[in-house]
Amino acid sequence: MKAVVTGGAGFIGSHLCDYLVAHGHEVVVLDDLSTGSERNLEQLIGNPAFELVKGSILDKSLVGDLVGDCDTVFHLAAAVGVHTIVDKPLQSLRINLHGTENVVEAAASHGARFLVASTSEVYGKNDADGLTEDADRILGSPLKSRWSYAAAKGLDELVAYIYGQETGLPCVITRFFNIVGPRQTGRYGMVVPRFVAQALAGEPITVYGDGTQRRCFGSVFDIIPAMVRLMDTPAAYNQAVNLGGMEEVSIKGLAERVIELTGSTSEVRLVSYEDAYGEGYEDMQRRMPDTSLAADLIGYEPQRRLDDIITSIIEYKRAGAPSPRVTIA
Ligand code: UDP
Repeated sequence: MKAVVTGGAGFIGSHLCDYLVAHGHEVVVLDDLSTGSERNLEQLIGNPAFELVKGSILDKSLVGDLVGDCDTVFHLAAAVGVHTIVDKPLQSLRINLHGTENVVEAAASHGARFLVASTSEVYGKNDADGLTEDADRILGSPLKSRWSYAAAKGLDELVAYIYGQETGLPCVITRFFNIVGPRQTGRYGMVVPRFVAQALAGEPITVYGDGTQRRCFGSVFDIIPAMVRLMDTPAAYNQAVNLGGMEEVSIKGLAERVIELTGSTSEVRLVSYEDAYGEGYEDMQRRMPDTSLAADLIGYEPQRRLDDIITSIIEYKRAGAPSPRVTIA
């Protein structure tokens, strides 16, 4: 396959590029390097099967040129991280909405297969015990920054879905549940790299709220092969598919695991949501995926346990954050 990976310099995108090149595919990355980093791709620079194009998905003609030359598009470029969405709501909306429409339109007009990375945020405050893909969305006001992100990603899904229905575009929507791993930065909010950095620095671990909120963290190394397999599975076309891990932990429990696995002397500090995010922020109490659709379609079964995931991030950060060469079977 010859694939365009938008957002390929980001955390998930760069691991996807490694995987695709290692499996004999050609890859062109389109990334504006706003939150992604060239460093995540340094192991691929100079490889004849790989090209990095610095540019924006808002640049319609650039997107058309790149997609026109490829047969598959993995669309991962997005404004991500709660802090980004809260700090730059307009820019985030533009990228997540208009950018996605440009990329979908190019894929449809050039007959390329298309995968769009979506998020468990689309379920909003639904805290059901195992969210299936058809679970109701329980969203707060779209005028609250957090829910504006969920609203934009919901529209991304809809754009992809409607193109799939009306044009026959082979399209897969993957909904990621708190995916973590090496190369993820805590700068934009993601909790696991933040806690690991705080623990390694001996600083207080900042648990927001009372720490009873729960998440299932999934390994990037489990979801990458799944994305590629879904793209090769016609039964997955025009569907949304949950991907993530199954081990649930409270955020306070996560802080304690990180302290133990780093051997840190850091203490846990409770921080109010208002101090963390500003007024009016609404957190989700619980978010747990049901991944049985992915299991049915491609035999998806997450392999990495939470402790293994945390340990891989500790090793990455201790090594001074080089780009690890990871081979995923
Ligand atoms: N969180 C925290 N301390 C931090 C960053 C995040 O306690 O320094 C909490 C956050 O409020 C949420 C959970 O950790 O309850 C997961 O946050 P993240 O931003 O990683 O993902 P999401 O909120 O999208 O699930």
